[in-house]
Amino acid sequence: MKALWLENNQLQLRADVPVPEPPPGEALVRVVRAGICNTDLELLQGYYPYTGILGHEFVGIVEQGPEELVGQRVVGEINAVCGRCRFCRSGQPTHCENRTVLGIVNRNGAFAEYLTLPVENLHRVPESVPTDAATFTEPVAAALEIQQQVPVRPEHRVLVVGDGKLGQLVAQTLALTGCDLQVVGRHRDKLANLAARGIQTNLADAVTERTFDLSVECTGNPEGFAIARRALRPRGTLVLKSTYAGQLTFDASSLVVDEITLVGSRCGPFPPALDLLAAGRVDVAPLIHARYTLNEGLAAFDRAKKRGVLKVLLEMSADS
Ligand SMILES: [Zn+2]
Ligand SMILES: [Zn+2]
Repeated sequence: MKALWLENNQLQLRADVPVPEPPPGEALVRVVRAGICNTDLELLQGYYPYTGILGHEFVGIVEQGPEELVGQRVVGEINAVCGRCRFCRSGQPTHCENRTVLGIVNRNGAFAEYLTLPVENLHRVPESVPTDAATFTEPVAAALEIQQQVPVRPEHRVLVVGDGKLGQLVAQTLALTGCDLQVVGRHRDKLANLAARGIQTNLADAVTERTFDLSVECTGNPEGFAIARRALRPRGTLVLKSTYAGQLTFDASSLVVDEITLVGSRCGPFPPALDLLAAGRVDVAPLIHARYTLNEGLAAFDRAKKRGVLKVLLEMSADS
């Protein structure tokens, strides 16, 4: 089969990758559509060692697996877990010590004609959710993880730093809580997407200091961290939603003095993400900036790397 293969920081389109054989408990999924995420771009730059097929945001159709799933449109949680280690047993499977992660850690990903995942990871896509929208289930779930970790209520002043792919979804999901939300970024056109939904936006340098109860850093760069930090009132909470290239330097003493809570945040729950997409309460259409076929995968990555480009989709096969 064809696949976008990463090896030694080089991405190549291969046509000689065998179609995977699902091991016991896993399903074979024909990939229909997939999204390129910043994590893919970071893997390409070698921030984490990985060799194999990239891609973890996808919609597919089950070709082999339990009868009730065969022929169904599905999305899949990306952590494949052991179920036996201390973190699995204590109800924290996304922290499984033996996990593989689709297209990220020791498991071939979605930029291919086929993938396999444990059956328990798969969720049927409701009829009412178009395939394009369903491709965003994984990042919408990751955005919702914030609300699993930190209470967000209407009286809270909340700042989202970053107007990129992740910041857009974080902002849209936080807005649903009714909190007093502001998003800052550097791109007027991207902020306009959010302003059109009634979300307050501002340019990054216009943040009022020591004001917000909660700030969410979605840029992955040290400047974004500094803005999110400055914006917090004493005893505020800083959520880190992006990974950082290299080390981050910050004034730890000021966190002590201001009694700031730092929260790292990663993967989130799929069912509420699918519910929001089904109800049309999160609008991903303005985030889609380009589409390519798998054959044009290298061009798709070049496009995704360009400044100001939001989501680039890869179209593998028909969604029926
Ligand atoms: Zn991602
Ligand atoms: Zn485990």
